[in-house]
Amino acid sequence: MANKHVNVIIVGAGAGGGVIAKELAVNGLSVILFERGEWPVYDKNANDELISQRIQELGNAFGPDWKRNPRVLISPDGKRTTITPANGGYNHNAACVGSGTVSYGGMAWRFMPEDFKLKSIYGHVEGSSLEDWPVTYDDLEPYYEKAEWEIGVSGDETNPFAGPRNRPYPMPAFEYNREARHLSETCKKMGLHPFPIPMLRNSIPYNGRPRCIRNRTCVGFACPVDAKNGTQNTVIPVAMKTGNCEVKTGCMVANIIIDEKGRARGVEYFDSKGNGKTQTADMVVVAGAATETARLLLNSKSKLHPNGAGNNNDWVGRNLQGHVYTGATGLFDFDILDLTGPGATMAICDFNHHNPGLVGGGMLCTEFFQLPYAFTGNRPSGSARWGKEHKDYQRKYYYRSARLHGPVQEIPNFDSRITVDPTVKDYWGIPVAAMSGGRHPLDRDNCIFLSSKAVEILKEAGAVQVWPRGIPGKVSYSPSGGQHQAGTCRMGNDPKTSVVNPFGQIHEIENLFVADGSVLVTNGGFNPVLTIMAIAYRTGEYIVKNFNSIKSS
Ligand SMILES: Cc1cc2nc3c(=O)[nH]c(=O)nc-3n(C[C@H](O)[C@H](O)[C@H](O)COP(=O)(O)OP(=O)(O)OC[C@H]3O[C@@H](n4cnc5c(N)ncnc54)[C@H](O)[C@@H]3O)c2cc1C
Ligand code: SF4
Repeated sequence: MANKHVNVIIVGAGAGGGVIAKELAVNGLSVILFERGEWPVYDKNANDELISQRIQELGNAFGPDWKRNPRVLISPDGKRTTITPANGGYNHNAACVGSGTVSYGGMAWRFMPEDFKLKSIYGHVEGSSLEDWPVTYDDLEPYYEKAEWEIGVSGDETNPFAGPRNRPYPMPAFEYNREARHLSETCKKMGLHPFPIPMLRNSIPYNGRPRCIRNRTCVGFACPVDAKNGTQNTVIPVAMKTGNCEVKTGCMVANIIIDEKGRARGVEYFDSKGNGKTQTADMVVVAGAATETARLLLNSKSKLHPNGAGNNNDWVGRNLQGHVYTGATGLFDFDILDLTGPGATMAICDFNHHNPGLVGGGMLCTEFFQLPYAFTGNRPSGSARWGKEHKDYQRKYYYRSARLHGPVQEIPNFDSRITVDPTVKDYWGIPVAAMSGGRHPLDRDNCIFLSSKAVEILKEAGAVQVWPRGIPGKVSYSPSGGQHQAGTCRMGNDPKTSVVNPFGQIHEIENLFVADGSVLVTNGGFNPVLTIMAIAYRTGEYIVKNFNSIKSS
């Protein structure tokens, strides 16, 4: 029996897809939300560090399934290597209802007003595709507020570099732990401006769920008390409660059906038993994250779009960005950690912009606690990584090390990209994503600068040994991306140099939208999820207002 026709199909139940589903369902549109993964179950995905979402060698608790989802990495000399989610360079995020928002650390950053107009501030950068956004911070402010209140953010208003806000956070900020208390005093003495990190976690009971108990295992895991706020426990349940939204898990969408007139008519997908099926709709929204969204559009070829949906100008899949994490680690001669979870509590934004000779910069913050396996990778060079010396180091320094680091504003470039591989196919027989290109050389300059600032702060705080970390080599051999992947369906006003308009609508296909990290023009010097959610709220509002006219046009 054919599936019942619906108003809107959404592909991907992560950050962007979850928000869109709620916005459309509460406004009376019938929605099917497709997700290739399953609902996360805490007991099934519990605290095993070796399969946490932060460590990839043994695969990830929240997907994607490493046997079914290969990708291809293309090196600068053209060599193609097939990789799985258990290999470096895969750019895994997650594949389940909620996606990364189940296991994320929950940092809830608004980008700064400057982040939306880098080209105007810094000028053209040779070898880059740096551009201003077609929207400003002020355009997004009401949607940031909506995300903060509906999904739930704890924070305060003490960051002097933040853009203006019309409403306070719904929950108070988390108190600093011992490490943050110590480092914030140092920062203040140095004339810097520390403040508590805004978090998508409950500092007080909120929206019917309890407050955070501050355990060590947060990032990489689901929350044992459900105090972490993702789309799986906020907006998606709201959407389902309306009766207008059906979530179909275990369903891999293979391509978008585009008819002879160039309109999206639905999708072809494989259900959880592997059966190929068709679902029709008046409109399709793609929210599969920057890599898979580009792949799906490129795999959706049709008469008027022979190079893939929305790709007549060859912009789909370009400008792939992520974040290099840079900073420094310091060893102290006293216990600086008290293990009040989840670790990261304090940040500074003194170096996000206006750094001499640089384009952008980045936020620096204290780090989520590293569990023992991850801690083995955090050593001064030359340290033993096995045997007695290794064990002595683990015991001596676990409580005596502190990290300051953060995501660097990356400079986008046209050749860092996703294409689809001509031969390699996934479990379902769908051509896989191929990643190629490299980072812009200026990212390295930002990393050198920011890590030197982290070194200065840690030394001033009394660290007896400090070393920088996260500085890429002079030549980049692979594209950025990772868990902060963004940029592959750039938003813009000009159809010749962007994929979607400022509302996420594909220029070339009126009833096809993108609502995830793909639409970001630049990726900020911050973790991106709150910005992805804010944009999805704005896109959702636009679809609701214009649904009838788009449907009948
Ligand atoms: C361990 C970890 C920590 C993080 N910490 C932070 C943090 O502190 N702060 C922050 O801002 N960000 C953080 N992030 C990143 C954040 O989770 C992502 O930026 C965000 O989830 C991306 O949103 P999205 O909508 O672009 O895609 P996603 O949220 O990844 O959603 C995409 C969904 O689409 C599904 N999908 C894709 N293709 C298909 C298909 N063809 N058919 C069916 N389903 C499909 C995927 O399975 C996935 O569930 C973290 C991520 C991880 C994994
Ligand atoms: S620190 Fe623990 S209790 Fe708090 S949100 Fe994270 S996982 Fe949940």
